[in-house]
Amino acid sequence: MPNRSSAPAATTPPHCPNPDCVFHLDSTGWRFKRAGFFLRKTRPHRIQRYRCSQCHRAFSSQTFSSTYWLRRPDLLEPVFRAEVAGSGHRQIARQFGVVHATIQRLIERLGRHCLLLHETFRKAAQTKLGDEPLVMDGLGTFAGGQYWPLELTGLIGTRSYYSHDFVVTERRRAGTMTALQKKRRAVYEEKLGRPDPKALTRDILELLRTNLPAHARVELRTDEKSEYRTALNRLQNPELEHHTTHSKAPRTAKNPLFAINAHHMFVRHSGANHKRETVAFSKRIQAVIHRHAIFQVWRNLVKAASERRPTATPAQRLGLTDARWSVRRILQSRLFLRRIGAPERVLRCYRGENVSRFARNERACSYRFAA
Ligand SMILES: [Zn+2]
Repeated sequence: MPNRSSAPAATTPPHCPNPDCVFHLDSTGWRFKRAGFFLRKTRPHRIQRYRCSQCHRAFSSQTFSSTYWLRRPDLLEPVFRAEVAGSGHRQIARQFGVVHATIQRLIERLGRHCLLLHETFRKAAQTKLGDEPLVMDGLGTFAGGQYWPLELTGLIGTRSYYSHDFVVTERRRAGTMTALQKKRRAVYEEKLGRPDPKALTRDILELLRTNLPAHARVELRTDEKSEYRTALNRLQNPELEHHTTHSKAPRTAKNPLFAINAHHMFVRHSGANHKRETVAFSKRIQAVIHRHAIFQVWRNLVKAASERRPTATPAQRLGLTDARWSVRRILQSRLFLRRIGAPERVLRCYRGENVSRFARNERACSYRFAA
């Protein structure tokens, strides 16, 4: 079977892949030489190699493909689809006959790719902020176990349903607990420390700062959570109009927070890790972030905004794209961090620096070459 997804992204290298080379950002006047080829087991078997005439870095046509360095380039696209179709990683692994660590690595790569792809739309999305009210709310979930709850806060357009951004915050386990559960929580907290109670306010403030330009005229809807009010007071944007709705108000289409309520239902429906009472919950905070980055890109660019009238995607409604994207188009070519750039908060997610205190052998990832 011809394997189109493993085809090289471009026949002519678009720029030098070395981030330290002067021709990495701007390829005007760039010269490179062909430098032989190598053979590989998947199609196309013959891969052209090149060398930069400026920095002498060797590379190949595969360097610019989203499947660079993969032994199974054919898996990247189907794994993306399975991820947003609500499958657990071990289920996906069984489907393709590989070990689940392979799926995990592919999801991490897809997550990084999607974080960068989302950044390419950020500036254009910011110019459309005045077009519609925004709505912000958190989804309760957890990673590693019920003792480690997380709040996944999203910022969504009320009419376009475009997801502008999200932030994942560690919370302390609360709510009804048995005496044994309280004792266990105390033991864990003694050993591993307690999540910062001010983390939510801090993260919300950072989320708003990254997404709302200073003095942006926006209407923001939230529920009555005190952290939102504190963060908005600290933001000091006189042009921002804040409207609150009680979280117990009926969650119908008439509810002012409908867009985010629907978004969260869809998050639980599409991601196996956010389903209630599941065994497929994420084991690390960083995994929640990678998986949600994939979901966000798919929701904005591929999935129709309305299921009943599937005419346009959220990105189309906002005027960011003129057609529905396919998963193949999302993975068309490799994205380079330095060429795109990202706010510090997103960079931490990209570099895998969100360490889970409860996970064994947890450490921040270090990627020397991989982008
Ligand atoms: Zn170079």
